[in-house]
Amino acid sequence: MNALNKRMVDISDGLEDVPVLCKDPITPTFKYCPDNVQGPGCAVDPSEVTLPGCSCLSRSCCPESCSCLQTGGQAYHATGALLDLNRTGSDYSSPVFECNALCSCSDSCSNRVVQKGLQLSLEVFHTSNKGWGVRTLQQIPRGTFVCEYAGEVVSFVEARGRQLSQSAEENNYIIAVVEHAGSGSVTETFVDPTRVGNVGRFLNHSCQPNLVMVPVRVHSVVPSLALFAARDVRTEEELTFDYSGGCRKQQPAETTTTQSPAVAEASRPNGQQRKPCRCGAEKCTGFLPLDLSILY
Ligand SMILES: [Zn+2]
Ligand SMILES: [Zn+2]
Ligand SMILES: [Zn+2]
Repeated sequence: MNALNKRMVDISDGLEDVPVLCKDPITPTFKYCPDNVQGPGCAVDPSEVTLPGCSCLSRSCCPESCSCLQTGGQAYHATGALLDLNRTGSDYSSPVFECNALCSCSDSCSNRVVQKGLQLSLEVFHTSNKGWGVRTLQQIPRGTFVCEYAGEVVSFVEARGRQLSQSAEENNYIIAVVEHAGSGSVTETFVDPTRVGNVGRFLNHSCQPNLVMVPVRVHSVVPSLALFAARDVRTEEELTFDYSGGCRKQQPAETTTTQSPAVAEASRPNGQQRKPCRCGAEKCTGFLPLDLSILY
């Protein structure tokens, strides 16, 4: 491991628990923020607590008695690892609700994972052919929470306007996550880390990624777009996720849980012209994902 030398700077500027390392100081074209912030058209401030808490008095909540775990089901193993890594690959998955600021359980409750923020040593680095990328400076076991994809939460109209005003050369960072609830209702979340964002904005796409994106609700109805290790990841491996979210079918859930967003679908439109994918994976589709739904 040669990465941790003293020339490294922390691009989070102390805002994360652990430094986000980078060898060459990045010209700051964006403001680092570890969490989602309220952007134009977003009716809810994501930093406000808008979800109810449980009244568990145990050290760690259990599904039998905890209202948080009953809303979304148990998402994490006692170690904090995501239990069902295939949740985004199936037609239906229950939403994740973590214990929040209003819950009476302890900070060590196993239903508190994404809220702890970045805990791994990551490096933003120059890839050979894809611009910036992110690699891990430590091994990451399968199921581990890695980081959020955080940025400005904006409305559909704002996201569409921003995308249309971009030139073909500009990077499009906007992620659209569509969640289908059992009741047939659809929740759309647009996150744009172009101006305000965290380390997630430097992650590249791969057609065979090692991270998976799951919308997780912590204190707010606005989901955090959380990235978990889809498999064991080696030290110095580049971290990637599928900008298209894996092209899952959009199908309402069979269950009738109200207010339960299911089937998360992430898409990251890249302008109107398809850009070539350089992920290098065996099953590479040749192009970066393109979701036109945001344009029409
Ligand atoms: Zn709890
Ligand atoms: Zn509880
Ligand atoms: Zn709780």
